[in-house]
Amino acid sequence: MRPGAIALVTGANRGIGLETARQLALRGAVVLLGSRDAGRGADAARALERDGVRGVTPVAVDVTDTGSVAALAARLRREHGRLDVLVNNAGVFAGAAAADTGADLVRGLLDVNVAGAVAMIHALLPLLARSPAPRIVNVSSTTASFGLTVSGAELPGDASVRLAYTASKAALNMLTVQYGLAFREDPGLKHVKINSASPGWTATAMNGFRAPRTVQEGARSLVALATLPDDGPSGGFFDEHGALAW
Ligand code: NAP
Repeated sequence: MRPGAIALVTGANRGIGLETARQLALRGAVVLLGSRDAGRGADAARALERDGVRGVTPVAVDVTDTGSVAALAARLRREHGRLDVLVNNAGVFAGAAAADTGADLVRGLLDVNVAGAVAMIHALLPLLARSPAPRIVNVSSTTASFGLTVSGAELPGDASVRLAYTASKAALNMLTVQYGLAFREDPGLKHVKINSASPGWTATAMNGFRAPRTVQEGARSLVALATLPDDGPSGGFFDEHGALAW
């Protein structure tokens, strides 16, 4: 990553997003810490500053609110004129058994986990295109892997309640593939790299802090994909150890 790269992380007021913001700032990025609640974002940025982390600015963005996304894009255009890194980290989980999963629960997850990522990419692609080395990271999950799921691999977490969540992250993975193919064909976008990252099962509010991995470990694959060199991959799905089966 070039020094002074402009990096935006959504849902960065806590959890894996906050740790990703910290690690990118420590690598010299100018970090925009996205939070849907301005107060929570400001608190998180202050906590990083207290820890000696410089270069982090809180920005309000609710990925389900088109007006909020457009306002952030306008601010970025005005203040920076480009964007180098977009980490689509904002996400929600809602657990329910298959038989108890209704359409409204699914709609809620798709709105944030899928449409939210599209909203961010749609609004910010013109600014990413102006970067010499743009990187987009879609934060997915190993549990969204068709390959691992149908092969019967043991995946972390409670398999009985994740029908809707895994479907939303599998849809996000297909977005990564489709954007990757589209960018490759577009002379104005072929320098944009986009990948899906799996943090692994990480202790955050999303799972009541019940998971074994720390946020430092969870952020590794996000940071690696956000800082890929020019010969790095695009259109792939990775955890910190390498490529994952779709
Ligand atoms: P988390 O602590 O619950 O953080 C989720 C973040 O997303 C919060 O900052 C939350 O904001 C934000 N968010 C939710 N809806 C939003 C919206 N509409 N607009 C903007 N921000 C929104 O959970 P996490 O574990 O760090 O999750 C980060 C990402 O990793 C998610 O995409 C998650 O699916 C993925 N992931 C997590 C694990 C794991 O084991 N933890 C595993 C695989 C993938 P509020 O604080 O305002 O709610």
